[in-house]
Amino acid sequence: MALNLNSFFLYFYVSFNKNNNMIYNSLKKLIVLFLISAISLNYCFSQSKPVIGVAGISHESNSFNIKKTDLEDFGVTIGESQQERAKRFFAGSTAKTTSSGYIAGAKDFGLELYPTLVTGATPRGPVTDRAFEAMMNEILTGLKAGPKLQGILLNLHGAMVVESYPSGDEEIVRRVRNAFGAAMPIVVTHDFHANVTPKMVELCNVLITFKENPHLDTYDRGYQAADIMAKIVSGKVKPVQSIVKAPMIFNIAFQNTYAEPFLPITNESKQLEKQAGILAVSVSGGYQYSDVPSMGPSVIVVTDNNKALADKEANRLSQMLWDSREKTRISNPKPAEAVKQAMEHAGRPVVLIDMGDNIGGGSTGDSSFMLEELLKQGAQGWAMVIYDPEGYKIAQNAGVGKAFDFPVGGKMDNMHGKPVRIKGEVRSLNVGRYLETEIRHGGGRYWNMGNTAVIQVEGSTLDEPNLLLITTKPASPNSAHIFISNGVYVERQKILVVKGAIAPRAAYEPFASILISVDSPGATAINPDWFKYYNIREGLFGIEKSKK
Ligand SMILES: [Zn+2]
Repeated sequence: MALNLNSFFLYFYVSFNKNNNMIYNSLKKLIVLFLISAISLNYCFSQSKPVIGVAGISHESNSFNIKKTDLEDFGVTIGESQQERAKRFFAGSTAKTTSSGYIAGAKDFGLELYPTLVTGATPRGPVTDRAFEAMMNEILTGLKAGPKLQGILLNLHGAMVVESYPSGDEEIVRRVRNAFGAAMPIVVTHDFHANVTPKMVELCNVLITFKENPHLDTYDRGYQAADIMAKIVSGKVKPVQSIVKAPMIFNIAFQNTYAEPFLPITNESKQLEKQAGILAVSVSGGYQYSDVPSMGPSVIVVTDNNKALADKEANRLSQMLWDSREKTRISNPKPAEAVKQAMEHAGRPVVLIDMGDNIGGGSTGDSSFMLEELLKQGAQGWAMVIYDPEGYKIAQNAGVGKAFDFPVGGKMDNMHGKPVRIKGEVRSLNVGRYLETEIRHGGGRYWNMGNTAVIQVEGSTLDEPNLLLITTKPASPNSAHIFISNGVYVERQKILVVKGAIAPRAAYEPFASILISVDSPGATAINPDWFKYYNIREGLFGIEKSKK
């Protein structure tokens, strides 16, 4: 557009210049002046893109984990300059995360991003008021201190519980809305595991959740958010949205959006999004470990100014969730049965998913139930990662090649088993940083599992080593490099134990002979009967017995 306008003026200037008639001389000067100002004005317009503020706190809060999440867990430096925050934000553009999707979308759709505090912490217990207030203050101060904003993108998880707020996410949007007024476009992105509150869709203009679990579309959703924001700012669309929440939980054991029963619902949401007038369709599975009224799945449909259509389609998709409820009853093996199945299975490796100790779901990462069972049944050729900083210290002090004899795991609380005595040899000590170049759950590229000791456990042979990886940080197994980077040949092992739920599937399905989801105890046990709920809605399917 800018180029065409300049050419248009240049054409007139050249036409007049050819004419030698004196009458035109003064007119010519006027036109030159007009031309110069028009070009400058045009240049200014082409340079000024709409400025969009970016902020976010991402946390999945497990009400059953007694360890609260505090400011230190978010790694936030209070009072850090916007330049520093922007530098860190844009440095993440090479990953495949929501924020990198914002960055790419902003570039393609002509927006300028103004990042303030964008942070997150490993899932654990609810966030303290102290941490929430401090970070909220940073966000509001940051957004207010910048240039005039024409929109705000909020990168939130959707299942954050704060001591004083059952939905920390809703409270963030409420405060941003109050600070910037009703006219400010606010587009929010959420995780697939969001427990969306009905109020949330009133407070923001557009809400988009990840469609996929494992979360392989994080970048796409960030990109989509930037696209919709650009359309709002330029006046091309007027979003309206509807939310419907089915009276159920959709058990986490069945939240694989690449398999039945969730797959057809996810596919339908993708199809619907291609329809004219529909801007975004989200089906979030919910996060069953937050004891809050909004716990459970949600369908959010955003249309271009057509509330009736949004209502109709949100109801239809929510009905699909409800209709598949009978397929979400759990019948997974307990640890003893799962280890037995793994040993009897002909192929390798067998991946045992320790769902009760799902680190990405807010568990401790030090559960010893599976370890205890592997030793008890004399399994051979297994590898497993466990969080135990004390155990690492013992291995480090002993040194590589030296004997190790120490009780490991089951130390963080009373939900994850007892410490298990491990005898063996320290095989290696590693720094625990690794790179994932494929798109795996969440789209992250750079990972840090903390200093890690590999213990070759008693009974190992060269053919069938039993390897316990002791870490100094709880480390989600979203990438197989959690093993590979520590010298474990994952394809040769008979059994790999991973502490997750659905997320690890993206990394392990490509080479595993079979994956077995284990109904193990812990802060993320898939069986709701393990827990007592106080704040969820009455009569939710799949969790009836657990409401106190
Ligand atoms: Zn998630």
